[in-house]
Amino acid sequence: MASNTSNPANHLPYFFGNITREEAEEYLMQGGANDGLYLLRQSRNYLGGFALSLAHGRKVHHYTIERELSGSYAIAGGKSHASPAELINYHSGEADGLVCLLRKPFNRPPGVEPKTGPFEDLKENLIREYVKQTWNLQGQALEQAIISQKPQLEKLIATTAHEKMPWFHGRISRAESENRILIGSRNNGKFLIRERDSNGSYALCLLNDGKVLHYRIDRDKTGKLSIPDGKRFDTLWQLVEHYSYKPDGLLRVLTIPCPQHGSENDNLGFNTHPSSGTLPKNWAGGGIISRLKSYTFPKPGSKKLQSTIGHQPEEAPFNPYVLQRNRGPTGAERGDQREALPMDTEVYESPYADPDEIKPKNVTLDRKLLTLEEGELGSGNFGTVKKGYYKMKKGAKPVAVKILKNESNDPAIKDELLREANVMQQLDNPYIVRMIGICEAEAWMLVMEMAELGPLNKFLQKNRHVTEKNITELVHQVSMGMKYLEENNFVHRDLAARNVLLVTQHYAKISDFGLSKALSADENYYKAQSHGKWPVKWYAPECMNFYKFSSKSDVWSFGVLMWEAFSYGQKPYKGMKGGEVAQMIERGERMERPEVCPTEVYSLMKLCWTYNVDDRPGFVAVEMRLRNYYYDISH
Ligand code: ADP
Ligand code: MG
Repeated sequence: MASNTSNPANHLPYFFGNITREEAEEYLMQGGANDGLYLLRQSRNYLGGFALSLAHGRKVHHYTIERELSGSYAIAGGKSHASPAELINYHSGEADGLVCLLRKPFNRPPGVEPKTGPFEDLKENLIREYVKQTWNLQGQALEQAIISQKPQLEKLIATTAHEKMPWFHGRISRAESENRILIGSRNNGKFLIRERDSNGSYALCLLNDGKVLHYRIDRDKTGKLSIPDGKRFDTLWQLVEHYSYKPDGLLRVLTIPCPQHGSENDNLGFNTHPSSGTLPKNWAGGGIISRLKSYTFPKPGSKKLQSTIGHQPEEAPFNPYVLQRNRGPTGAERGDQREALPMDTEVYESPYADPDEIKPKNVTLDRKLLTLEEGELGSGNFGTVKKGYYKMKKGAKPVAVKILKNESNDPAIKDELLREANVMQQLDNPYIVRMIGICEAEAWMLVMEMAELGPLNKFLQKNRHVTEKNITELVHQVSMGMKYLEENNFVHRDLAARNVLLVTQHYAKISDFGLSKALSADENYYKAQSHGKWPVKWYAPECMNFYKFSSKSDVWSFGVLMWEAFSYGQKPYKGMKGGEVAQMIERGERMERPEVCPTEVYSLMKLCWTYNVDDRPGFVAVEMRLRNYYYDISH
């Protein structure tokens, strides 16, 4: 599993991944432990952090490298660096607090790959399982959900996954925790974690020679968890993992999670292991999480959930719309309901993905099943767009209906609508407005999924508080939709912020396929016969000069779209005429960086505005750049 491809240290030959401090010491000893010999490893207690192990005076010194909120790296209290490699480079010339200079890297022996931490590895699996089960997704829909929502999902997993772990017993009293541990087997190291209050403080209850010890787990100002004077961790998971490797101040290591039902065999999801009698000698060597194979996420409100938490009446049934109790101590989000993710909405998957909903023949809809509301969502040459409801098996679905002007006797307009419908019919992606069908009645109507918040440019004009990160999230989603179009050989030809519609503030869909074309098998561009009513400020030079349209010219438009988004819906090339814009582009000039636009995004915009088609990136590269940047700023 390529779980760690985005690790900023994976390419370094002296990076060992998730090895323990002891393993690091062993390696450095093997390497002679000369002063200044060092290696880099993953931090086991800071998500996204590293540890530097450095030999000096026949001893190995360990330094934690924290990942700071800004995304840079620093040894606690030290100088910040853009990457772990730069930090290493710096300390090769400057001890600056280390016992000595970093003189020589200890590289991984041949055949040794950076070790994937059980947590990292499991986290990937967890996210996948969580999405699969919570939203009942599979295939592309599942993958796209993970890609677009990875930062949010990681956070969900880190803050709530322990709630479903067998060792987590929720809010029970000290006395009750002792009862539970003392029932059944009394193996040393049997443990559970209980919640002490709703401010993120817990207790670790551990069986030692027939007595239950209670260790407080407190949360500090920065949200880190620790036993008093102990190591600090981002999640309960990592804490449990750590103390199942070594006691590190506890009377003994954690061995068996105390089951929640008083039944020793009910180790929900844990690998089977001896439930009584002596434990294998190396039992403590693997870590609790490594021993965990998989577990099942209870479905929202399911029986299974109720039975696992049945003895905790105050616990609300799991609801994917609500982040139950956010334990972050730093205010803003605590107790809040979490924002809806794209997967929470009705339009993430096609209504026809439901096996009970049968797609009508010829995608023509029954007028009787469609009701229209008064008022318009939008309008154009073709007519109007209205809100409506289309009755499906699972209830009335809100829809947007593009209604052709009736008085127009121009058959060309009808053909245009049918062409648009024909393109939309072939597309199915979470980041593209889907067509539900067409309906011929009092007028020709194109029935589409509803994107309630409307066009991106207008939304941003009215909502200046939307953050850079939020905008990055949205344009990344657009790039995902465009990557899908590119893959399927469609060119959009009218990609602009006005044609990106919002379902929520965190969910964008590409719309308006009125100018779109399916490419033929033998050409990767569409050649227009003549100049039409074109959105020239969004068009690449080859569109204007040779009437040639390809996914690469959509990439150019996407650059303008990003400019619009980071300018909060301003008009591009303000006050200029189409011809003036073309001249400006030919002179090699480009629009300036919008005020709040991150430099990384601006450099991507300029890349999208590469004059030469062949040198311009495609959507695969554009999406990857945006994805990495988005993950980076989301930590
Ligand atoms: P045009 O070809 O005139 O640009 P669009 O397809 O872009 O037509 O639709 C025009 C307007 O109608 C949009 O700007 C938007 O306000 C509204 N609209 C269109 N489709 C939808 C939809 N699926 N959900 C919500 N509003 C929509
Ligand atoms: Mg439009």
